[in-house]
Amino acid sequence: MTAAADPVLDYDLAGLHARLVQQRGGEVDDSIPELASADPDVVGLAVVTPGGRVVEAGDSDVVFSLQSAVKPFVYALALTDDRDRVAEAVGSEPTGEAFDAIHLESGTGRPANPLVNAGALLTATLVTGDDRAAKSARVLAGLSAFAGTELAHDTTVSRSEQLLGDRNHALGHLMRSEGQLTMDVDEAVGVYADACAVQVSTVSLAVMGATLALGGRNPVTGRRVVSEQVARDTMSVMATCGMYDGSGRWLQRVGFPAKSGVSGSLVAAVPRRLGLGVYSPPIDPTGNSVRGVLACEALSDDLGLHVLQPA
Ligand code: GLU
Repeated sequence: MTAAADPVLDYDLAGLHARLVQQRGGEVDDSIPELASADPDVVGLAVVTPGGRVVEAGDSDVVFSLQSAVKPFVYALALTDDRDRVAEAVGSEPTGEAFDAIHLESGTGRPANPLVNAGALLTATLVTGDDRAAKSARVLAGLSAFAGTELAHDTTVSRSEQLLGDRNHALGHLMRSEGQLTMDVDEAVGVYADACAVQVSTVSLAVMGATLALGGRNPVTGRRVVSEQVARDTMSVMATCGMYDGSGRWLQRVGFPAKSGVSGSLVAAVPRRLGLGVYSPPIDPTGNSVRGVLACEALSDDLGLHVLQPA
């Protein structure tokens, strides 16, 4: 499909945005003060095509912390840096449990998948680097390559995550006791907290999704960020585990790989078609942005994006 013929370019994203802002429902996450103070009325939308064209609507330049939307990208970077170790250390099965459940796979003692906190915490420690600072720098550089722009941490958010992340510390200790985690627990939670605290706009987020959708090559910069195999592996876990314990319903209803975060972030990668970024802080009880889900349902229906559509 040529860029000129891409129906995404004619899509009325502004009209979708206008409908979304009328929608109410959901609560802004209050796990840390910086998230609790988010404006519930902000709605940003951005789509990036295979040709690298950006279509945006609403508050698409407002920045926010990635939170769990960072997890697939951390997984992709860890797979790139140490595929064998990552494949051995983390499973790829959906859990049906809360993202921060204090639970490891029975039998193996490893995290069930890289998109629950246990798995994300572990994969964050498997990227190249000798300590927290080096690993966080590697993650930030990798995320910036995905986004095609220089990203930064919000250090206040990172500090709050570190201070208030009791369950993540608990998971760290559990994984150390199982021999899965070899790094110091505080350092490991620090790498993960830094990753969750990376600031993006919906445009950057859509470019990150598009880089996965295009097999690991950033369609805006033209730069290869990860291999095709890594992009496929990453989109596979997003499809089955990306939307918290609403992932099965998501695959059936919306039908493309995505990952959400409690900040109200949502990134999607529709293979070979587009990358999508949404930001709207109110989240539903499973942790997914209420307007983000509605946006994806509409785009899936209107543009025929369900990847399992028979014809
Ligand atoms: N920083 C959050 C945590 O680990 C991420 C939560 C999320 O977005 O799911 O608790």
